[in-house]
Amino acid sequence: MAEVKHYRHKKHYGQHFLHDSAIISYIVSSLNLSDDQHWIEIGPGGGVLTRQIYLKVASLTAIEVDKDLWPELEKLSSQSDNFELLKQDVLTIDWRNFKPKEPLFICGNLPYNISTPILFSLLTTPIKWAAMHFMLQKEVVARMVAKPGSKDYGRLSVMTQYFSNAQAGRIIRPGAFNPPPKVDSQLVDLRPYVEKPATASNQNLFANLVRLAFNQRRKMLRKVFKDKIPITAWPEVQLEATSRAEELSVGDFVRLANWCTNSSIII
Ligand code: SAH
Repeated sequence: MAEVKHYRHKKHYGQHFLHDSAIISYIVSSLNLSDDQHWIEIGPGGGVLTRQIYLKVASLTAIEVDKDLWPELEKLSSQSDNFELLKQDVLTIDWRNFKPKEPLFICGNLPYNISTPILFSLLTTPIKWAAMHFMLQKEVVARMVAKPGSKDYGRLSVMTQYFSNAQAGRIIRPGAFNPPPKVDSQLVDLRPYVEKPATASNQNLFANLVRLAFNQRRKMLRKVFKDKIPITAWPEVQLEATSRAEELSVGDFVRLANWCTNSSIII
């Protein structure tokens, strides 16, 4: 599709529109679209991905905040029964009220300035999804898939890997976008687990524990939680009292969280 001509890209909306047709084709084919699928696209922009997706799937709902982009996208929705535009900030969507048809797939070349809150809200959504495919800043993908002990390992790694099986994909250079971003980008695929490797009995407590632990990632956890978690807890959850957040696996965090839940400790 032609790009939205003479459009002034808005930096505050993280607008970098894909214009490299080979990359656009690569992304669309990697989505493995089929006509029984229901899709949500976050940030359709000028619609380069949108126009290729809706033709091949059962339905597509695109969520776009920038009102200057609505007229073009509305033209598309007036022409087709299976494309719907939500004129909304994706962060204001209460996914609990969202009743999508299944199987549900989510994609987007996300606005990089708010990609982490978007990811957190999607990962913790109660709606059932079959896969998510995103384009993100390369460093964010590195953090999502990082393993314990590496410099990129942090809250985003633990939360991503708790909720999903994340696979880093192709790196996309700035020249594929207009205007080019200052950073490299990368594709990432998320799949839900058939069965989670570890399950927190209180998800909010688990999320709070992970957040607080990584607020002081190099500090011993025994010190971070000295007012909350008694010293006797550490051997019971098979963790060294000297361990630091950056060394704990997702399973370690879940065990610690479940110990707190069972001991009626509020984190
Ligand atoms: N998918 C398009 C555009 C990607 S740029 C392409 O690949 O060419 C990111 C898009 O996200 C822009 O269209 C921007 O307006 C939109 N966006 C930014 N913040 C948003 C928000 N809070 N909610 C929904 N869309 C948002």
